[in-house]
Amino acid sequence: MSELEDNLINIPSIEVPKVFFSEKTNRPFNTCSMCGNGLNEFELHFVEKAFGMPANSKEHELIFEYALCSECLESTREEISEESRKNIEMYFKLYVDVAERNKKLLSKNHIDLNSWIGNCIITGKPVLEEKEYIIGGAFLGNRMILNVMPYAMSEKAMFEIQELLSKKTKDFLDGFQKKVFPPDVRERVPDGSLIIL
Ligand SMILES: [Zn+2]
Repeated sequence: MSELEDNLINIPSIEVPKVFFSEKTNRPFNTCSMCGNGLNEFELHFVEKAFGMPANSKEHELIFEYALCSECLESTREEISEESRKNIEMYFKLYVDVAERNKKLLSKNHIDLNSWIGNCIITGKPVLEEKEYIIGGAFLGNRMILNVMPYAMSEKAMFEIQELLSKKTKDFLDGFQKKVFPPDVRERVPDGSLIIL
């Protein structure tokens, strides 16, 4: 277990909520979508799911889902240009005070999942009113860690994030999508929607 994972054990966590289950298996993800390795009990990993409302529908459906082990996440992040990373960091800092958010959400008597992922972390608006949105979470074994994640993000925020990316990063993300998503899914991935950013 790495030092990072050791520290994470002290962070509040809850059982993996159903909304973060894989819709293919109806269970928590147990393999990394990039390297195919199993996600063991002590391994930090990340799950992202994107939802969209098809034309003529009033309900969201899954656009994509994937899990990434911490090694794949790290190697992926290394490929993102420094310029893009700095821009995104600044963008988040502008809108989100993580310490304040945690204090507020963790001070309740029970963990209300909806207060974590019901509204866009950037705009604060309910994601169910959006045409497209994503949710992202960090997990250790069968626990979801409550820290920066989980969060939800609306179309508007994803669009703004896309605008902050360098050409190099955009090219790299195209390659990432080819590795992780089947071709029919790739066409529907909203721009700026990947939590690996
Ligand atoms: Zn992996």
